[in-house]
Amino acid sequence: MAKKRLAILTSGGDAPGMNAAIRAVVRTGLDWGAEVYAIYEGYQGLIDGGSQIRKMTWDSVGGILHRGGTVIGTARCEAFRTHEGRRQAAHNLLKHQIDSLVVIGGDGSLTGANLFRQEWPMLLRELVERGEIDQKTADRHAFLAVVGLVGSIDNDMHGTDMTIGADTALHRITEAIDALSSTAASHQRTFVVKVMGRHCGYLALMACLATGAEWVLIPECPPEMDNWQEKMVADLKAGRKAGRRESIVVIAEGARDRHGNPIGSTEVVKALEEGLGEEVRATVLGHVQRGGMPSAFDRNLGTLMGYAAVEAVFDATPETEPQLICLRGNRIKRAPLMECVERTRAVADAINAQDYERAMELRGGSFTQAFRTLRTLNRSLPHAPTAGQTRLRLAVMNCGAPAPGMNTAVRAAVRIGLDKGHTMLGVTNGFQGLIDGEIRELDWMSVNGWASVGGAELGTSRITPTGRHLYSIARTIEKHEIQGLLLIGGWTAYKGAYEMYHHRDDYPAFNIPMICLPASINNNLPGSELSVGADTALNNIAWAVDRIKQSAIAQERCFVVEVMGRRCGYLALMSGLATGAERVYLHEEGVTLRDLQEDLNQIVAGFKHGKRLGLIIRNENANPVYTSDFMAALFEEEGGALFDVRQTILGHLQQGGDPSPFDRIQATRLAARCVEFLIENALAHVPASAFIGLGAGGIQILSIEEFPKMIDETHQRPKNQWWLDLRPIAGILSQLGPRSRPPEKN
Ligand code: ADP
Repeated sequence: MAKKRLAILTSGGDAPGMNAAIRAVVRTGLDWGAEVYAIYEGYQGLIDGGSQIRKMTWDSVGGILHRGGTVIGTARCEAFRTHEGRRQAAHNLLKHQIDSLVVIGGDGSLTGANLFRQEWPMLLRELVERGEIDQKTADRHAFLAVVGLVGSIDNDMHGTDMTIGADTALHRITEAIDALSSTAASHQRTFVVKVMGRHCGYLALMACLATGAEWVLIPECPPEMDNWQEKMVADLKAGRKAGRRESIVVIAEGARDRHGNPIGSTEVVKALEEGLGEEVRATVLGHVQRGGMPSAFDRNLGTLMGYAAVEAVFDATPETEPQLICLRGNRIKRAPLMECVERTRAVADAINAQDYERAMELRGGSFTQAFRTLRTLNRSLPHAPTAGQTRLRLAVMNCGAPAPGMNTAVRAAVRIGLDKGHTMLGVTNGFQGLIDGEIRELDWMSVNGWASVGGAELGTSRITPTGRHLYSIARTIEKHEIQGLLLIGGWTAYKGAYEMYHHRDDYPAFNIPMICLPASINNNLPGSELSVGADTALNNIAWAVDRIKQSAIAQERCFVVEVMGRRCGYLALMSGLATGAERVYLHEEGVTLRDLQEDLNQIVAGFKHGKRLGLIIRNENANPVYTSDFMAALFEEEGGALFDVRQTILGHLQQGGDPSPFDRIQATRLAARCVEFLIENALAHVPASAFIGLGAGGIQILSIEEFPKMIDETHQRPKNQWWLDLRPIAGILSQLGPRSRPPEKN
């Protein structure tokens, strides 16, 4: 049978993470025995043909994971909008016998791809009539398989939770706003920041949520009032009066008022200058948002979507509609491409028709919820408690090792609790503070600026309370009349909460609702596929490994990099996927002498084959005997003159730094839900206790009674770890070359 031939192209605006998708499509395709072509410069290359359509090899996509943009170029192409243009494109594909196309682009590019597929039989007929191809060729390639991936920093596609590039753009924006905030705070200044998003306020909204910026203007939900300028000025003035030193207004490119009139940064600056009586500066972030190194999330999203695109190509039949590869609830799925494109267009139509309610509805629940949460968090002061309402006393604490995003969660919990009229208490230093009675009341401004700060401002400690501590803790709870407890942390938090829950009969003080929010870089907690802090750690590792790889440019070298995770291999596997490591060692799989021998053979073969760099990532506890030291020494000895070996233990740099946008957003969403849970349960006769997390279907809350059932106690990790399913994909992409065999079907 003839080999399947597929082509990939990138079109429209470029987006960081596209290269990861290209690499995954090329390598997966080759591994499964297909021939893979890259079409350079988008649809223009398809029409121009010739050297713009190039056959790819395994090595032609090496070393591109960390690069921004798209290595195969992208373009906007008017000619592809014409029938003649598409006929020429079809002819060029058939010259290479290609009849499967993976397109990475925005809704415009995907619409074009769909049209191309619909017209394909007609185009082929015309080509036969014109004598440009023969009937046999037309019969052999009677249908065109089309699979779409969304590369767009705007995150504007219906059907997928994230588009390739949006997370990186958020990195760029939050870095910029964090930087502006510090200078703004020094001078008590006001800044206006304009971010991309013509029909989609995702970047503006999430950037605001992640940085604590004060005011946001997005296309989907313009200010309700006509005199919005006065309201904005009044809010900023109130913020200053309450003690804020900096004021930041974020506007999306497509911001508008209720009547559809565009709102530009000049207009906002003018209104602020007049209202505040001070100089106001505008920063238009522009294309910086699209550029630069892709985040770990976008690299892995691109990789997983690219892999799934090839799967979809192999599954395609003349009857299957073009498919869009989507991310839904942390899983890669397929959806009918045109349905997603049409629903995306419906949002733009609703905005243009000034039907903002519909626009928000189409954006979906978590967008609307995020907007609501933002409006609470960014208030200058909380709403006053309503007359006669029950004012609860709710406490917040951190437990275990600090995880980036802990402060973000504390800030969100405290402000939401206060806004609902309750008293919020902060426990110093985790369980130690609860034992020692170190509790203080937190007011609105006490958590100002915490959205973006790494570490744990409240302090944390690693102690897990046991028998003798419980009495002291019960006394603290009684003395401070704590009616609900939010524990933000890792294993320690969960164990401690369970211990208290378990002793409710001995200590009536423990009859309060408790909820654990997963915050640990290790991502080793039950009930949540991702814990707060893990994304930051992954980015820290990818950042460090990129640099380590660059350092080796001059000589043949193999690196053994040891990463954290305790006995959970999440960080090791996902950082391996994000950096293109040849081999990843996990505790879950163990390490045998035979593995080491095989891997060594592969590495030696790689260097003989011309590789200049080897990268091995090892979880810190992958094996007690085959340590990083041991592996480095073994490979060094066996590598002989072929390569030398260095080991790097990344250590605590993984835990530090300001939280990534993703961790800030998750921390905020989860904390908001936790406070609701405590309020709902505080007055119940038998209050529930629970742990929250991100499940495949979104945020979930599980009873604390489930905790012991869901964990592998010995290794301190969940029994089921979803990400282990990604292991084969990492295996395929990191091989030295293709196996050229069809995919294994499960
Ligand atoms: P994006 O894909 O980022 O939305 P554009 O809308 O500019 O970007 O589309 C990129 C390219 O896709 C266009 O230059 C054109 O070649 C092609 N394209 C867009 N819309 C169509 C269409 N309706 N029919 C055919 N080709 C299209």
